[in-house]
Amino acid sequence: MQCNALHEAGYDIVVYDNLSNSSHEAINRVSMLIGQPVEFIKGDIRDAESLKKIFSAHHFFGVIHFAGLKAVGESVAKPLLYYNNNVSGTITLLEVMKEHSVKNLVFSSSATVYGDPESLPIDESSKRSCTNPYGQRKLTVEHILEDLAVSDDSWNLIALRYFNPVGAHPSGEIGEDPNDIPNNLMSYIFQVAVGKLDKLIIFGNDCPTVDGTGVRDFIHVTDLAQGHVAALNYLDKQASLNEDSMTQNSVGFLPINLGTGKGTSVLELVSAFLDVSGQAIPYQFTDRRAGDIASRYASADKAKTLLGWQAELLITDMCQDTWRWQSMNPNGYNVS
Ligand code: UDP
Repeated sequence: MQCNALHEAGYDIVVYDNLSNSSHEAINRVSMLIGQPVEFIKGDIRDAESLKKIFSAHHFFGVIHFAGLKAVGESVAKPLLYYNNNVSGTITLLEVMKEHSVKNLVFSSSATVYGDPESLPIDESSKRSCTNPYGQRKLTVEHILEDLAVSDDSWNLIALRYFNPVGAHPSGEIGEDPNDIPNNLMSYIFQVAVGKLDKLIIFGNDCPTVDGTGVRDFIHVTDLAQGHVAALNYLDKQASLNEDSMTQNSVGFLPINLGTGKGTSVLELVSAFLDVSGQAIPYQFTDRRAGDIASRYASADKAKTLLGWQAELLITDMCQDTWRWQSMNPNGYNVS
């Protein structure tokens, strides 16, 4: 998804991934959609030598850093893995970037850094606090980036805080296909729609929300991808301004929410999914999940003001594109 958006925006890209939770078939499909092969290197973010080789062979403007493990449950069971991959991996990347004087970075952060918000909508100055190791490591990386920006003003570091990404590429060719059991709301709704699960278990109907069910700010992955392009364009514009004026105005550490600014409840999402798929989604209420936040949605003003970006796609688009991807690829990227 991201490669397509960057290619359309005129960027040349190199993809570096250890394929621990992705597939070469996804790269093939991206190449097919953009009409030319994507340069892909299989490697691990913790492998400094491998990174150095790539940075020596290319003249990069910047890096979009997505290389993080992202399962909350796994982060509780394997905290060292999350320190190692998500934190040490980031440090290794930053060291190699520094060595090669590549100082522009867009980092995948998460709305999870806000924990249980004190007020809504959540803007970027809201207090940060996390309760699970996954979120804490996102926060650790944000702290590292902040320290780095203070230590050296030639760094330009944008942390994009994603709200709840859903959807798939509108072609139905690219979508999410995790190795582990998918465990977010949309994937459960889909499994009920295709009969893999009898019913959706809804965690609580007594939240202080529009209908008692949890509220989240769902954002289409196409909009999310455009948000990264806008962030990179912003860094590019800053670099040009500096070149023109021969000054050094660094971006420093810049956190930006990527959300729609609108909350949607679990029941509203179920109803939208029924509308686009025609599949009934039986459900049953149970107790609220331990640690679950009742309501979370973004203030997306900063992204609009600074990056000129705002989400365009609706909940129906998110459901439609998820349904198309899943229906066309019942086994994900496993095409054999
Ligand atoms: N949810 C639910 N049943 C499920 C999965 C999720 O009712 O099987 C609810 C959950 O309580 C929350 C919302 O859906 O209110 C979004 O949950 P998800 O795990 O997708 O995202 P997160 O809570 O991490 O933002």
